[in-house]
Formats: sequence, structure tokens, C-alpha cells
Amino acid sequence: MKILVTGGTGYIGSHTIVDLLENGFEVVSVDNFHNSRPTTLDGIEAITGVRVKNYEVDLADRAATLAMFDKEKFDGAIHFAAYKLVGESVDKPLEYYRNNTNSLLNVIEGLRLQGSSNLVFSSSCSVYGNADELPVTEATPRKVAESPYALTKQMGEDMISDYCKAVPDFKAVLLRYFNPAGAHESGKIGEDPSNPATSLVPVITQTAAGKRGGMKVFGTDYNTRDGSCVRDYIHVQDLAHAHTLALRYVMGGKGTKNPSLFNLGIGEGLTVLEAINAFEKVSGTKLNYELGPRRAGDVIAVYADRSLATKELGWEPARGVEEIMRTAWAWELGS
Ligand code: UDP
Repeated sequence: MKILVTGGTGYIGSHTIVDLLENGFEVVSVDNFHNSRPTTLDGIEAITGVRVKNYEVDLADRAATLAMFDKEKFDGAIHFAAYKLVGESVDKPLEYYRNNTNSLLNVIEGLRLQGSSNLVFSSSCSVYGNADELPVTEATPRKVAESPYALTKQMGEDMISDYCKAVPDFKAVLLRYFNPAGAHESGKIGEDPSNPATSLVPVITQTAAGKRGGMKVFGTDYNTRDGSCVRDYIHVQDLAHAHTLALRYVMGGKGTKNPSLFNLGIGEGLTVLEAINAFEKVSGTKLNYELGPRRAGDVIAVYADRSLATKELGWEPARGVEEIMRTAWAWELGS
């Protein structure tokens, strides 16, 4: 089974490629290295012994994308490629709308032109906005998106839903990620953005490693147990494996008419200050951080009810926050 992984050299994409290869899938990647590096392909090869072919194509470019689909025939696709920074999306909304929606349209069109009908889509817990109930289940209503990034994920889900209704044999799974963190246990791949990191865990490890002067906790006056935001941090290898399971699910005939929808989080909320504490404990270092103002676009608290993914996909995350911090720190020191 040949699978297209868009954003294959990105953080979650690369870990998912490893998981797919280890589970017997053949993989082709498309990545224009907008926020990743070609060297990630070396890391994947070091772990799996497989040199994955990558097409350096901008998926928002329809002609280039369809030309790539002319060269390869896929049994399905996992669509990761997207701009993903909440803060940046507030500053550059048009770029986010243009890139994230066009790339999805082009991937769906390419799949259909060659008669493929299996899609797994990277969505995000940010589609829930400031949810009325916690933990959020897949039935929790989506609220107003707090950022253009979040709106592009809501739009992506809706585009796929409409398409599934219109094309009855098209099958899709929407995966709502909570906060992916940590690195591969081999130490050979991890979060390696070419742009400066903005996600909490790499900001923590870079600060501890002296690669940045310090860091701020964004907001300490939220209505949470210590005033900082609550998130559900999920180890990237656990998250990656959920994609293999989702692909099997959709290839097994599920997800027609309405895309199947799964929350992928560990199911526990951690505040920013608790995450910092966990890091300090695991690494034995003292972090140089300040308490700062809120960041635009942040939701206050979100964590998952993941029971549906466990029931339907058989997904059981095996790693907790210590493993996240341990592998993220090992990756930081080794990279
Ligand atoms: N955060 C922070 N300082 C940083 C980076 C992030 O306090 O330098 C906080 C951020 O405000 C949010 C949480 O950490 O409450 C997770 O942020 P991240 O950007 O990792 O993921 P998001 O939940 O925004 O997708």
C-alpha cells in the first residue's frame, strides 16, 4: 500500500512516516521545507533503513501538485502540510487561509483524479475554541475559532465533510491533535522547525540549553489552577501511531458519507507552569523563565476525552509527560 504523506519532513509527519514504514506501508513524502529540513529524511533512514522519496512541491500550487499526482499512484494520503503557528496566523491571516485551504483542495483533487479515496486529515483541538465543557469529546460543539489558524482547521474539516457527502465512496478521518511534544526514542528525529520554535516544549528545551536567553509564561491570570493555560500534551510517537491506525480504519471502509472524527490527546490537562516543573524534574536543571502577559489567540484550557479513539481505533497512548520531557531534552542536547 503506497501512502502519500504531505508535510513528511515536518514534526508529526516524520514520526508518522517511521510508524507507517514499521507497519509495512510504502511511503512517498511531499514537503517544500517551508518549516522543516531535508536532513529529517536522513533521520528517518537511520531509524528504518528506508530512504523515503520526497517531492519538493508547494501543495498550494495546483498545477505542481497535480503534476506530482501524475507521477505516483497512491492508495491513500495523510495530509499534514500546513502553516501551524497560532500567533503567526493572527499576524498573517491571508497567508494562512491561502496556504491551508488551497493545499487541502489540491490534495483531495489529486487523490480523486487517480481514483484514490482514503484521506487522513490533521486537524487540531483548536477547532473547539474556548469549549463550554472539559474534557472535550468529539461531540463537544466547536466554538468560534480563536485564531486564523484554528479557523483554517475548522474550514478544512468542513471542506472534507462536504466532500464526503457529495462523493459517497470517499472516506476520511479527521484527527484532532492536542499538543504534540517530545521526540523519537532513537534521538534521530524530533521537532526541528527551520523557523524559530514557538511551541512550549521546544521553547523550554532551547531555553534550558542556552540557545535562547529566557522564556515567558504567556498569561498567569487565567481562570485555571495556577493562572497559566491548560493543555493536553501527547507524545509524538503515540500520536504518530494513531495515524497508522486511522489509515487502516479508513482503508477498512469506515469514514464514508461523514468523516470519522477522533480526539488525540492523553486525556489530562497540564498547566504551563506544571509543564515547566515536569521539565525541571526530568532534566535536573532550573529553567530561566519569566511570567509574562497573555498571547493573542490562546484558548484558556483544553484537554481531550480520548475514549472514542481508544474504542474505535484501538489507540492507547503509552507515554506520559516525563517521557515527553526526557525525549525532548535528549533531542535538544543531541541536535
Ligand atoms: N507558551 C508559553 N510560552 C512560550 C510558548 C508557549 O507560555 O514561549 C504557552 C502558550 O501560551 C500555551 C501553551 O504554552 O498556553 C502551549 O502553547 P503552544 O504554542 O505549544 O501550543 P498551542 O496550544 O498554542 O497550539
